[in-house]
Amino acid sequence: MARKDSLEKLRKILQKRRDAIVRSALGDLSLLQGRASKSADVLDAVADTVQSELNSQLLEVESRELAAIDEAIERLNRGEYGTCETCQKPIPLTRLRAVPHARECIECHRLAEKRRSHPAARMNRMFDSYQTDGAS
Ligand SMILES: [Zn+2]
Repeated sequence: MARKDSLEKLRKILQKRRDAIVRSALGDLSLLQGRASKSADVLDAVADTVQSELNSQLLEVESRELAAIDEAIERLNRGEYGTCETCQKPIPLTRLRAVPHARECIECHRLAEKRRSHPAARMNRMFDSYQTDGAS
């Protein structure tokens, strides 16, 4: 199958995922509203709080994924989808199938993660800024 056809398939997957998120987010909201009016005793109220905290965390994750999916669909429309933002190489279809809203190939993604989270990278940055400060 041509890469272009595969990308169009991924568009459908993205749109389906988007629909599912929107539906589940709406479901969570109506669930929350339903519960709030019914919480009779304290235990129920506590359970409700825990549940709504869980739900709001879930909503946050969902809204972040939703934004990423919207962005991916935008890139599809512009014909930029499936190209690594960092090295400009085509992102392998296997990666896109696993993470349809991926913006980087796995190599660049891993490098970026390392830069963000590696303690040595943070120390280097601190050292760099210390040196620059000293020089000026
Ligand atoms: Zn790349």
